[in-house]
Amino acid sequence: MPRGVVPRQPARTGRQDKVRAGSHAGANRGKSASRARPPKSGGVPGRAKPARAAKAKYNPIAPERVAEILRRLNDLYPDVTCALTHATPWELLVATILSAQSTDVNVNRVTPELFRKYPTVEAFAALAPEQLEPDVRSTGFFRNKSKSVVGAAKKIVAEFGGQVPDDVEKLLTLPGVARKTANVVLGTWFKKAEGVVVDTHVHRISRRLELTKENDPQKIEQDLMKIIPRERWILLSHQIIWHGRKLCIARKPKCAECALENICHAGDKTWSTVEMHKGAKA
Ligand code: SF4
Repeated sequence: MPRGVVPRQPARTGRQDKVRAGSHAGANRGKSASRARPPKSGGVPGRAKPARAAKAKYNPIAPERVAEILRRLNDLYPDVTCALTHATPWELLVATILSAQSTDVNVNRVTPELFRKYPTVEAFAALAPEQLEPDVRSTGFFRNKSKSVVGAAKKIVAEFGGQVPDDVEKLLTLPGVARKTANVVLGTWFKKAEGVVVDTHVHRISRRLELTKENDPQKIEQDLMKIIPRERWILLSHQIIWHGRKLCIARKPKCAECALENICHAGDKTWSTVEMHKGAKA
């Protein structure tokens, strides 16, 4: 290499200079900007314009792309599972209710003492919600969470013989339990793939990876269930959640360290070697 010539590296700003419209996963890499641009006056009659043709081919939910995302996530996070500390399905249910708008680390600080103090679902069912409030205060939204946990305990004791049901419809009848919580309990404890857990990480990363354009968790779940093989629903949720904690964080994703970088076109990347798509962001 002649002296003074330094190989060009992608800019760390994420706003790549000379990243060209219509290039997907480096499709136009190596072409000059003028060659990649479509002809100004419509080009040669009967021939497709190169840039437009490339754009029309890009499908973010093409089976090959989805499979590649799953493969890379498998390599990154082969054995991950739920990070909430629990020893029974009831403890997992309580921890998941408490994790709303909080972090697993925060919840794990509270639950060991909580489960020591109230060791069974019957012990929780005997409480008034106000009695539980001081114990769960640090997880946030403690009044609502106390109501949900005590209400769920009462219902499980009264209607399900003290056992957490392993059925999505029954779980959804419990106070404070929506699809996310039901999917966590069913997938993690009962190993039943009834849906995909859509928490804040799955919400953000599915949008960045263009696996969905939706904002509503239920619609995101429906989109994911259509394109992800059922046998991957449980593991995939855990993998994306871990990816969201380690690299694809909300404010400043660590794109330069991410193994998905060259197939990710998120509009809020912090570093990119491929075209970024404005609409694909958290
Ligand atoms: S490249 Fe960046 S935005 Fe895309 S998945 Fe990785 S960390 Fe997230």
